[in-house]
Amino acid sequence: MTRDERQAALDEIANEVRSCTRCRLAEGRTRGVPGEGDPDTEVVFVGEGPGFNEDRDGRPFVGRAGGMLVRLLGSVGWQRDDVFITNVVKCRPPDNRDPQPDEIAACAPYLARQLAVLDPAVVVTLGRFSMATFMPDARIGQVHGTTAVVDPATGARNALAFAMYHPAAALRSPSVEKDSFEDMTRVPAVLVRARERREEPTTPAEPALASTLDAPTPDQAPVAEPDRPSMHPGAHTLAAADPAADDANQLTLF
Ligand code: URA
Ligand code: SF4
Repeated sequence: MTRDERQAALDEIANEVRSCTRCRLAEGRTRGVPGEGDPDTEVVFVGEGPGFNEDRDGRPFVGRAGGMLVRLLGSVGWQRDDVFITNVVKCRPPDNRDPQPDEIAACAPYLARQLAVLDPAVVVTLGRFSMATFMPDARIGQVHGTTAVVDPATGARNALAFAMYHPAAALRSPSVEKDSFEDMTRVPAVLVRARERREEPTTPAEPALASTLDAPTPDQAPVAEPDRPSMHPGAHTLAAADPAADDANQLTLF
């Protein structure tokens, strides 16, 4: 898919979210919050659900937790526009309560479709509800800062998940904040590893797994995509088809 095609597909999903009534969270919302970011990104951050500010603005992570997320991104030289940011549920739970299992299930197809369009190399989970989608049965205190191979049934057909605490938890606890910044320092290396995995020839075990969502045909097999610029800010202005330029750019991840 080209950048424009990806953007159009994401816009279509966003429009559906804004008028969605598939679960009870539609009743209390001011605005649906589909998510936003670079349609060509390799990294998607998935939070829990909109809070007060997000519900008012229709944009993810614009409140205090968003400020923390921007600081975390900035610690590795990234900006929020370099990545894609979304949530497990797209509408604000009343009084910021936890999203309920049936609400998460009702909303899951939107996240799956976003991931199918974006085809990220890395999904960073923020908090335990997001982690539960990508690392079932894990405990946040144990798996934060670690990776797992993502089940293609999530929509992300060839990605690594990386678990982090929710930024709101980092705001409440200095030790969680410290762990969060430490965890964040690992994300660029996780991206490099994820890229390497995507360039490896598919092993015999993988097609069977992948077929649960989107059976890859040989010409869809995961390969480096020349139409996708690297993560580095400003990369979009580079000749993305020039592999040498792209490689030089990738090094600046560190
Ligand atoms: N917390 C989240 O989980 N998501 C947001 O978008 C904002 C705060
Ligand atoms: Fe629809 Fe998701 Fe909002 Fe529920 S939370 S109404 S499923 S967009």
